[in-house]
Amino acid sequence: ARLANTVARPLGGKQAKEEICRAVDAVDLVIPQGQVVGLVGESGCGKSTVGRMAVGLHSLTGGERYWKGVNLHSAPPRQRKQLQLQMQMIFQDPNASLNPRKTVVDLIGEAPVAHHMIPANNKADFVAELLQKVGLSSTVMHRYPHQFSGGQRARVGIARALAVKPELLVCDESVAALDVSIQAQVLNLFMALREELGLTYLFISHDLSVVRHISDEVVVMYLGRVVESAPAAEFFERQLHPYSQALVRAAPMLESGKKQFQPVAGEIPSPLNPPSGCHFHPRCPHAMPKCSSQVPELRLVQLGRLSACHLNG
Ligand code: SF4
Ligand code: MG
Repeated sequence: ARLANTVARPLGGKQAKEEICRAVDAVDLVIPQGQVVGLVGESGCGKSTVGRMAVGLHSLTGGERYWKGVNLHSAPPRQRKQLQLQMQMIFQDPNASLNPRKTVVDLIGEAPVAHHMIPANNKADFVAELLQKVGLSSTVMHRYPHQFSGGQRARVGIARALAVKPELLVCDESVAALDVSIQAQVLNLFMALREELGLTYLFISHDLSVVRHISDEVVVMYLGRVVESAPAAEFFERQLHPYSQALVRAAPMLESGKKQFQPVAGEIPSPLNPPSGCHFHPRCPHAMPKCSSQVPELRLVQLGRLSACHLNG
């Protein structure tokens, strides 16, 4: 079996295209087929930018993007377009991403008709089936987005993404706007769809309890760099990087009965002007003199575990 993966590798610097380029610096991301990779970090660390790069909504200023072994930059336009459809993004706010003037049947059915995936006269049947897949009744297809609850709108957004038969879904804070009980339902839907359709996910969230619920692999970003990656179970057992340790301590809901949580100390520096050396050094309780001058490389510390910290070197 072949690995279906996407590699976003913006190498930053050179033709500095303002903020975007500097927001994400030398990130190498591999998403194995059928897996859920949880991408975590505080806001402004570049998670969303990486997600948008992965699906091609942001161009890279350096580096490459592969999907199923095909380099998407050098692929012929027709092939690229076709492969591109297999990667879909689900946004945080379905309100902002669903056109309020369109009914659900059009919101969901337009793209597959436009891409000749289904004949126009099949649209209603096709949409009815998708609505059922995401736990909605087909009777809602003539409603407008504002006529739904937040959880239902999230389901409509998912059905819309599924309509073009994607294989990779990039979910950017896709449950962040929902109540906790609704969050759990939508996360369970994501898991069920993964089983049923063999989907692969890049799941971006600032919420570690959400990531723990859904991920096979965890990738932690800090100020535009990946600082740690590990299988989820091992990661939540023990974090190797001081920033990851601080993030877990700051997450109140990870351990039942844990009453106290400590926010990560210090302010997040501007991603446009990050600290020298290890970006985390001004906030790190373990910082050593070389931390402010030498960039720690992301390296294999244990089987399957990467960390970018001089302590782990
Ligand atoms: Fe802390 Fe230094 Fe490790 Fe950075 S490299 S996380 S400052 S110990
Ligand atoms: Mg974001």
